[in-house]
Amino acid sequence: MNKRTFLKLSSAVMASRFVSPLFAWMPTEKLTNWSGNLEYSSQQLTQGTSLEQVQDFVGKHEKFKVLGTRHCFNNIADSKDELLSLRQMDQVVSVDVKAKTVTVESGSSYGKLAPYLDSKGFALHNLASLPHISIAGACSTATHGSGEKNGNLSSAVAALEFINAAGDVVKLSRDKDGETFHGAVVGLGALGVITKVTLDIQPTYAMKQWVYENLSLAQFKEHFDAIEASAYSISLFTDWQNQQFSEVWIKSRTEPGHEFSAPKDFYGSKPATKNLHPIVELSAENCTEQLGVPGPWYERLPHFRMGFTPSAGKELQSEFFVPRQNAVDAILAVERLRDQITPHLMISEIRTIAADHLWMSPAYKQPCVAIHFTWKQDWPNVSKLLPVIEKELAPYKARPHWGKLFTISPATLKQIYTKMPDFIELAKKYDPKGKFRNDFLNRNIFG
Ligand SMILES: Cc1cc2nc3c(=O)[nH]c(=O)nc-3n(C[C@H](O)[C@H](O)[C@H](O)COP(=O)(O)OP(=O)(O)OC[C@H]3O[C@@H](n4cnc5c(N)ncnc54)[C@H](O)[C@@H]3O)c2cc1C
Repeated sequence: MNKRTFLKLSSAVMASRFVSPLFAWMPTEKLTNWSGNLEYSSQQLTQGTSLEQVQDFVGKHEKFKVLGTRHCFNNIADSKDELLSLRQMDQVVSVDVKAKTVTVESGSSYGKLAPYLDSKGFALHNLASLPHISIAGACSTATHGSGEKNGNLSSAVAALEFINAAGDVVKLSRDKDGETFHGAVVGLGALGVITKVTLDIQPTYAMKQWVYENLSLAQFKEHFDAIEASAYSISLFTDWQNQQFSEVWIKSRTEPGHEFSAPKDFYGSKPATKNLHPIVELSAENCTEQLGVPGPWYERLPHFRMGFTPSAGKELQSEFFVPRQNAVDAILAVERLRDQITPHLMISEIRTIAADHLWMSPAYKQPCVAIHFTWKQDWPNVSKLLPVIEKELAPYKARPHWGKLFTISPATLKQIYTKMPDFIELAKKYDPKGKFRNDFLNRNIFG
């Protein structure tokens, strides 16, 4: 099936107005992840409503997993036993103006928190391509946006509250708990049930977004550093054909000193004359405003608007992080696989992420470039292609995204995530008997 036919069918299935599937879920329907490629192994879903009730749940269950907004593509959130959702625990607890932090219940999504913060005169440093995801789920998997000076979303976590396997409330903070805190933030759901997250905030800011079309691979190779440095956040989209990036998304803060000059020619690419979707065949209705129109940070940092279906809907995703110094070579290596990749692809995206100190983050102590693939929902073919891409990227020390699809072996993961032995010890401290473990964690971390 060609891409145009596939996308037509997919978008017919996913009407563009978006109803949160968790709340649309009825006990008669099978509980799946957001894209529908994974049916959870347990259909026993309990809603957490208070700290005490969640503690009681932890005490009464031998094994379970917490679900966020279910946007992961692999089985990291799956359980054969029980599932717990904290979506009803989504209130802002406090804003500490002096410490410049907000504390929020972990079931909140960025889409819910962001307008509240903005109304109080504050902002977050960055957002992912979609605001729909839960804060706890996103931070647990090192979810990221773009911008060479911007760490991933978990790098904004200043403190965490979670319930460990014994049912005790554990509080960790960046200021007081040093390395333990660095180990716990990207916790892959293995340490406990996160109930509150404290995030760094800053004064609110406005942004503008532009899209440029058709940046050549030759210009990209020649000017990679300058392109990435040209604005607060840069995303490059390609289907790997024709030696070009079909779209360059440029997100710029409007404060003096930050502004992007929006030239008529950006390294040979030209400004789009209407709003575009990253997959050019799809309507831009679900995308954030472009064409340099100013707006609040939370309506420009994500590519997709809250209240609408993000991305394409019926899809799969994979993503690999390479150390920044390997980026151009790694991207050229993927480009050489274009004729194998493109038939199964909707779109690829290239983003930059600043280094952080979080043990299980792909950007642990190294600035990264992320090479992302939105695939057609065709696992038999994608599963054959992933090892080919992973082999090509292996010399560049590529690390996979924890929430997306990969086939890299557990032995290789142990080599490339150098803090994994410490992370295993930390997880055992809070969960000695494996209450929070599932097949994903047993295979990739504890195996
Ligand atoms: C359309 C689309 C676009 C995306 N764009 C991006 C992007 O721009 N950048 C990026 O990096 N990723 C992106 N992702 C991936 C995705 O956002 C992340 O992987 C993220 O984890 C999803 O959060 P969630 O709440 O849905 O997590 P879930 O899938 O529900 O859970 C993820 C993990 O977090 C754990 N967890 C959740 N809540 C808790 C809690 N309260 N306590 C303990 N553990 C918890 C779960 O047990 C599981 O281990 C995208 C996904 C989709 C579908």
